[in-house]
Amino acid sequence: MTFSTQKRELKKINSEQLFETAKTLFPGGVNSPVRAFKSVFGSPHFIKQGDGVFIWDEDDNQFIDFCCSWGPLIHGHNHPLIREALQLALVLGTSFGAPTKKENDLATFLIDRISFLEKVRFVSSGTEAVMSAIRLARGYTKRRYIVKFEGCYHGHSDQLLVKAGSGLVTFGESSSAGVTEKMAAETLVLPLNDLAALQSCFTDYGHDIAGVIIEPIPANNGLLLQESGYLQELRNLCTKFKAVLIFDEVISGFRVGFSGAAGYYGIAPDLVTYGKIIGGGLPVGAYGGSGEIMSCVSPDGPVYQAGTLSGNPLAMSSGLAAVKICAELGFYEDQERRTKLLVDQILAHTSLKGYKFNIHSVGSIFWIAFNDADVIRKAEEIDSDMTPFKLLHRALLQRGIYLGPSGYEVGFVSSIHTDEILNLAALAFIDAIDEIMV
Ligand code: PMP
Repeated sequence: MTFSTQKRELKKINSEQLFETAKTLFPGGVNSPVRAFKSVFGSPHFIKQGDGVFIWDEDDNQFIDFCCSWGPLIHGHNHPLIREALQLALVLGTSFGAPTKKENDLATFLIDRISFLEKVRFVSSGTEAVMSAIRLARGYTKRRYIVKFEGCYHGHSDQLLVKAGSGLVTFGESSSAGVTEKMAAETLVLPLNDLAALQSCFTDYGHDIAGVIIEPIPANNGLLLQESGYLQELRNLCTKFKAVLIFDEVISGFRVGFSGAAGYYGIAPDLVTYGKIIGGGLPVGAYGGSGEIMSCVSPDGPVYQAGTLSGNPLAMSSGLAAVKICAELGFYEDQERRTKLLVDQILAHTSLKGYKFNIHSVGSIFWIAFNDADVIRKAEEIDSDMTPFKLLHRALLQRGIYLGPSGYEVGFVSSIHTDEILNLAALAFIDAIDEIMV
């Protein structure tokens, strides 16, 4: 391999020009806010190509990619099996607005392997999956409140753009202009991993709670691993009060195991939401779970939900190709082994140096924290000073390593990050960390 992680000056002429144009076209120059690089130094790199573990920007800077499109690309860029599946689907037509065999094929593949998934509905994004699952929980239970947790992200539907007020169990406050307080007030917000708050919420409101939504592996605000006993108690309370437990596995699904966090912890939700990996890099989402609850969805039941491009044949084809690779024997063990290979080398160095630094990881997800706490389970425990991350992000770009541009975001190792690449990346991380820690 000829790729070098030696520190270099990055060329930024074309990306900067493109960004100037983009700013005249899109709010903030982007079609999703984090891409604007506002949480790190500089301006975005406009990416023109990806192949394997590498991406190239419009100035021909080459990077090893650990963002992986924020999770979907568990097999890296331009994987031959996914490309082939897409090429075959493409010549047959891109969309029909009528059922296709491809939807059956992907759904069967998932339902055959995930014990609690009896029926599924494909949609076009994680946000749409979550929004639909919430409506379904309310329609099924005929109750109004939804419970969410501070530090979990579930996409941008109105009812979930809420933050905690002051107090242990609070009615949500709108966290975005345009979300009415009335809408936010039907969402209860709890701290993560806090049994007392959870129990008191159910004691006070249990019979009015339609559903509880959680990222069972919260990975949108750092990586806030929950105690399994806490998740189990959540399951028990939902069962006791007949509230719908929704696991939002848009990130963790097919990432920490084929059955996601549900399989990892051995806890079955009533409904699950997926996205990212099940589209193999194309726009997709899904929600599903208990056949009884899913039978409330139209046209079987009264809960309306529809989509022009739902179950799109291209997305179904690339998704099926992606999950088939994930289902191979030993896939997840190897993902974890290679992630540890990267993380352990870096941590061996940083602990030797005594740096205030840690990398939290599960499966092939990792998160860098400039904090030496062994475990961080709640959003409020995250150090809000992101300056060290910003410096590291820049130092890594200069060494050919691309991380998502925010210290609250996790990184992903894909199946084509080989030992050789990860060893090389570990050296680049170590070099970059040493530079910024002086
Ligand atoms: N839920 C979770 C857990 C997510 O991580 C995300 C996106 N990062 C979403 C929902 C929303 O998905 P999308 O961006 O596809 O709408």
